[in-house]
Amino acid sequence: MIEYQHHSIKAIILGIMQDAGLPHAGCLCHRCRAAYADPVLKEYATSLAIVDTRQDQSKVWLIDASPDIREQINILADVLGPNSSLPGRLRQPDGIFLTHAHFGHTAGLMHLGPEAMDVQHLPIYCSNGLVEVLQQSRLWQPLINNLDLFPLDPFQRFEIASDLYIDSLPVPHRDELGTDTFAYRITGPNKTLIYIPDIDDWNLWPEAREFLRAADIALVDASFFSEDELGGRAPVAHPLVMDTLQFFDQLPVQLWLTHFNHTNPVLDPNGDARRQVISAGGKIAYTGKVFDL
Ligand SMILES: [Zn+2]
Ligand SMILES: [Zn+2]
Ligand SMILES: [Zn+2]
Repeated sequence: MIEYQHHSIKAIILGIMQDAGLPHAGCLCHRCRAAYADPVLKEYATSLAIVDTRQDQSKVWLIDASPDIREQINILADVLGPNSSLPGRLRQPDGIFLTHAHFGHTAGLMHLGPEAMDVQHLPIYCSNGLVEVLQQSRLWQPLINNLDLFPLDPFQRFEIASDLYIDSLPVPHRDELGTDTFAYRITGPNKTLIYIPDIDDWNLWPEAREFLRAADIALVDASFFSEDELGGRAPVAHPLVMDTLQFFDQLPVQLWLTHFNHTNPVLDPNGDARRQVISAGGKIAYTGKVFDL
C-alpha cells in the first residue's frame, strides 16, 4: 500500500524486471521455480507511474505498458479513484508514455482494449515510428481505435501539468522496426528523474553524461550482471551491471538499477552481486519505491 501525500508529485516504481518478468516463461532456474512456488516472489516487468496530487482530481501517467499492467494498475487504485462512467471500475490513467516497441513495454496495451479495461480516448505518447506501427497492427485494431496516439519528436519537451515536464531523449537500443527508443526525463518542481529501462551501451550515447549530470535520479537498465548469464550466447545489447557502475562512478546522480533479467544475481537479496552494487553506491529498484519530484 502506497501512502500518497496530497499536493505532491511522485514517481512510483511499478515493476523491476526485464520484459518477460519473473517467473520467465518456460524457465526452470532457481529464481523462476521459487517464484512459481510462492507468488510473493513474483516480480513485474519494469514500469513507472507519475502521480500528481496537487489538484483535487489526481493525475496519473504511466511510462510503458508492461504485460503486467493488469496488476500494476491496481497498485494505483487509491490515486486513480473510481470511474465515473463505469461503476465498479477504476478511472483510466491520464496518459501512457511508451519508451519503445519491445513487448515488455507495449504488450500491456492489450489489457486496455474492449475485452479488458475498455479505455476511451486514452492518450498514448511515443515515437512517430511507433505510432505508425501501432496504427498498422490489425490484430489490435479494436483497442487502437480507443486510444489517442500522439507522436513525440526526439528531445520534445512536454508540460504534462503545471511545472511538470517530460522530455523524450533518444537512446541507442536494438531497433528491428525502425521505431526508435526514448529515455524519458521527468522534471518536477524539486527533482529530475531520468528513466532508461533499455539502452545498448552507455558509450554509444554521446549525450549520456551531459543529461545524467543534470539529473538527480537515474533509473537504468541493469538486465545482466555479467556474461556468465548468457550461456555462451553472443553478448546481448545491454550494458553489464559492473560497466554501468563504472560509468556512473564519476556522476553525481543517484543511480537506481532496474529491468533485471531473471538470470541476474542482483535479484538475490543476500548475494555477493547485490553487495557489490551497494558498495559501489548503486541502489536496487523495488516495486512500490516512491521518488519525490
Ligand atoms: Zn525491455
Ligand atoms: Zn529463470
Ligand atoms: Zn528493449
